[in-house]
Amino acid sequence: MDAERDVMDVDVLFVGGGIASLSGALHLSNLIKAHNSKGEGKKLDEVMIAILEKGAYPGAHGISGAIMDPGAFKELIPDFLEKGAPLEGEVKKESIYFLTKNFKFKSPITPPPLNNHGNYVISMSRMNQWMAGIVEENGVNIFAGFSGTEILYDDNDRVIGVRTGDKGIDAKGDRKSNYEPGIDLHAKITVFGEGSRGNLTKGLIDHFSLDKDRIPPGFELGVKEVWEIKEGKIQPGEVIHTMGYPLKSNTFGGGFIYGMKNNMVCLGHLTSLDYADPFIDPHREFQKFKLHPMISELLKDGKLVQYGAKTAPVGGFFSVPKMSFPGGLIIGDSANLFNSQKIKGINIVMRSGMLAAQTIFECLINNDFSVAKLSGYEKTMAGCKEVKDLYKVRNFHQAMTRGLYFGMTISGMQWILGGSVIGERLSADPDHSHMKKPMDIYGTDAPSDEAIGDIKYDGKLTFDKETDVYYSGTTHEEAQPAHLKIKDLDICYTKCAENYHNPCVRFCPASVYEIEIDEATGKKTMKLNFSNCVHCKTCDVKDPYENITWVPPEGGGGPKYTMM
Ligand code: SF4
Repeated sequence: MDAERDVMDVDVLFVGGGIASLSGALHLSNLIKAHNSKGEGKKLDEVMIAILEKGAYPGAHGISGAIMDPGAFKELIPDFLEKGAPLEGEVKKESIYFLTKNFKFKSPITPPPLNNHGNYVISMSRMNQWMAGIVEENGVNIFAGFSGTEILYDDNDRVIGVRTGDKGIDAKGDRKSNYEPGIDLHAKITVFGEGSRGNLTKGLIDHFSLDKDRIPPGFELGVKEVWEIKEGKIQPGEVIHTMGYPLKSNTFGGGFIYGMKNNMVCLGHLTSLDYADPFIDPHREFQKFKLHPMISELLKDGKLVQYGAKTAPVGGFFSVPKMSFPGGLIIGDSANLFNSQKIKGINIVMRSGMLAAQTIFECLINNDFSVAKLSGYEKTMAGCKEVKDLYKVRNFHQAMTRGLYFGMTISGMQWILGGSVIGERLSADPDHSHMKKPMDIYGTDAPSDEAIGDIKYDGKLTFDKETDVYYSGTTHEEAQPAHLKIKDLDICYTKCAENYHNPCVRFCPASVYEIEIDEATGKKTMKLNFSNCVHCKTCDVKDPYENITWVPPEGGGGPKYTMM
């Protein structure tokens, strides 16, 4: 039986409470305040702006590298220093290393794209929490603990808002005594800023064919830990990037180490999800990264404080979908706005939020919410510095994924020549399509643990996934339907097992997927430990049969990041 749902009307709804939406909501509220205080023209009284955030609190799901180029931030909050923005340190020292298993080679120069002088090391979750406070002071409503689960369209196929998820549904889909139906949030303009591989945005892009003529998006999985280490080992704001070990040259990725305040350091490892080897496990690669003498020495006598993982949309300029549609806009990571050559997305996603706000402000002033008016956002985005920079490195990720040495040569030339080196646009296939059979990689269907590169976790420097998940603070209401939807379990037990040995058990950084085999009968059962899920979206991207769809669990579930 369909539940009776309350309807709530707002003027502007941001779906997703990350840095793009917070920047957009803050800029819009500032523009409205400034307009009203001028007393010219029609006053924009009581414009209701709302942000829907699936995490338990703003910043709970905020995770990034994170180095912030403060370009857009300085425009948005010019007095950010006086206001006490949570900055871990200004970057004054940086280095790049090429690693082999036991050695390191320091690059004599820092390539310009990786020059971070003047940028800041931050914690994304702290920054989101801090900005959320300012946004709320400006009168914006933040509904934390609520996820958007359905896009609402009117009879003219215009987006009119989203439905939030029901609460109090048990594992069988029946209502519990605490059942609360979700509500329909209606808005004049709905802005999708759900982060990387947003589930509603994915449907929206399909619905309006917003990716027509674009290349498929590409993703990297970043696995990250924050450690407290001995004093003096790294300065706040110090930045180290690495290439090479533990990845082989046919898999793109790299490591990062950023100094934070109070003897904290965040370190992580990115693995491009177009990898071919079904035995790659990005979490294990990160653990191996920590075993390198340079890293293990840094962490010696330290202790793990927090763990997290997230995909980053690295497909580049040609993977950015059309960002306006009837009734709304797409901003931030959801629009694949990320400069993979600089390994940075914060500045461009803040800019996208701010430019979306500018367009929305003009819509409100003119009481014109037409598609033509909304498309003004794309025009201003096309002209902004951040998108022009993205265009200059438009083939970076595609070149890198054709092999490290080829990619380094091409990206170097591209940077020097300002763009085209090997044609306007390199082709790309979806990440899930790259996987090969073990025979094609190892010459056997059953490679040894040693060939795969498996390691034992010691619980001091290296941790298994379950232990790491504990450090992410992840919790979900256990009595609810699993939010990982597997279309056809037979595929898991047959084709996927035979061809790829069920790579989901390895690519998931939170040990959500487990194949149990009955010893007596040999029967396989997929066990979904969904309450471990850190919402990284890797399974939605990388399953070779596109057999897994990630949907939001009951609002408030997921990681509880505070330092990521
Ligand atoms: Fe990431 Fe999917 Fe695992 Fe959740 S289940 S942690 S989204 S790979």
